[in-house]
Amino acid sequence: MNTEVLGKLLSEPHLFKQQAFIAGKWISANNDQSFAVHNPATGQLIANVANLGAKEAEAAIQAAHSALPAWRRKTAKERAHLLRKWFELIMAHGDDLARIMTVEQGKPFAEAKGEVAYGASFVEWFAEEAKRVTGAIPSSTWTDKRMMVLKQAIGVCVAITPWNFPIAMITRKASPALAAGCTLVIKPAEQTPLSALALVELARRAGIPDGVINIITADRDRSIAVGKALCSSPQVSHLSFTGSTPVGRTLMQQCAPTVKKVALELGGHAPFIVFEDADLDAAVQGAVDSKYRNAGQTCVSSNRFYVHESLHDAFVERMARASAAISVGNGLDEGIVQGPLIEARALQKVEEQVADAVKHGARIITGGKRHPLGGLFYEPTVLANVKPAMLVMREETFGPVAAIVPFKNDDAVIAAANETEIGLAAYFYSRDIGRIWRVAEQLEYGMVGINTGLISNEVAPFGGIKQSGLGREGGSWGLEEYLEMKYLCVGL
Ligand code: ADP
Repeated sequence: MNTEVLGKLLSEPHLFKQQAFIAGKWISANNDQSFAVHNPATGQLIANVANLGAKEAEAAIQAAHSALPAWRRKTAKERAHLLRKWFELIMAHGDDLARIMTVEQGKPFAEAKGEVAYGASFVEWFAEEAKRVTGAIPSSTWTDKRMMVLKQAIGVCVAITPWNFPIAMITRKASPALAAGCTLVIKPAEQTPLSALALVELARRAGIPDGVINIITADRDRSIAVGKALCSSPQVSHLSFTGSTPVGRTLMQQCAPTVKKVALELGGHAPFIVFEDADLDAAVQGAVDSKYRNAGQTCVSSNRFYVHESLHDAFVERMARASAAISVGNGLDEGIVQGPLIEARALQKVEEQVADAVKHGARIITGGKRHPLGGLFYEPTVLANVKPAMLVMREETFGPVAAIVPFKNDDAVIAAANETEIGLAAYFYSRDIGRIWRVAEQLEYGMVGINTGLISNEVAPFGGIKQSGLGREGGSWGLEEYLEMKYLCVGL
């Protein structure tokens, strides 16, 4: 596939953009510098995208800053109408957006369509929430003064996003920001800029004014300079980042001198606990859902399976059977359930974790190696006889490997589940109402799935505790992130 072929796959070829978007204009880099984007399923070049730097990042901030007063002045209803239009265009172009995503990210087409709908749901939700921003009038402690609290847009915002959800991680930040009356600069992941650019083209068509939404594309190296420019600018009031914990820490430090508000959604390392009273079929289904979605490359993917010793062997056997039945391949092909990993270093990480586990005594029940298709494909893998000291139990895998450990009692498994600096998502299966409350309260995680392996939607507060991040996205909480409080005290 060459760079023209992707355009030809689309019903609306003009959604295929390779330039960045600043102040309402599609722009190239100086001297047309670009970086290559590859299809992880085939290794083929699919696009050469503008490789911008700090100078263009400054221009994007300037554009967002200039657009802020008029955008903030619009009524919430006017902003809501524009967001609603954007939502409708995203849904109308769902097949094209999903094709672009499958080709640059690798997830199967059906799953990509699911992400388009999930991503669009944030735009729809925040279009509605825009109209529900409400201040307060506390009772005054003075007889001669009255008090009021206003909620106002925080200002120019920055969104730095990852490749695993190329659309949803942008809409989850952009739509509440825009709903609140903020303007925005987006820096999408270098692996998946095309979904982001198509999304911004649809925002333009929806009538979102020039400068309100800007997007800076850059390769891995230049992302560092772009990130510095965005985080250090005094004109930027808020950074929302989704990605790895080390990069999150760096960006937080870069935001410190200008005391920006930061929202961070960082790494996960989710435990998945199956108690002895669980419905085993449901638990296996939940385990497959939460483990293999996006080839295990989600921050809420189950990473450590703890199964009560009475169910352990049966769970391992059924999980292995279900895993071996997953069809792996190019996500554009019919019936594929698991695509490739995103890049070579992701594949190496999975291989290292499996090799380390085997070296320390783990048994491979199914999978355990690169898929015969070659390239970036890895087999759905189940490991048993896993020990807490193994890498696979200590670090996020971000790949299709299920490591299973037996446990004897509730206290021990809760302690093991909590023994990490990470606190994003956890899952458990039980039918005992007392245990459900006890365990849910004791798990040190921002999100807990109980008798389900799928928890994300636009209404829920998505986010983690400990070193998994700060702030929440989605629901009414997601909008608060982009609002400042202003207290007015009025003398009578
Ligand atoms: P991953 O390892 O999954 O790619 P990262 O945290 O490295 O996750 O990347 C998430 C996002 O952060 C991407 O958009 C990437 O370009 C960006 N990024 C990575 N390093 C930096 C950095 N030092 N400064 C700014 N942005 C960065």
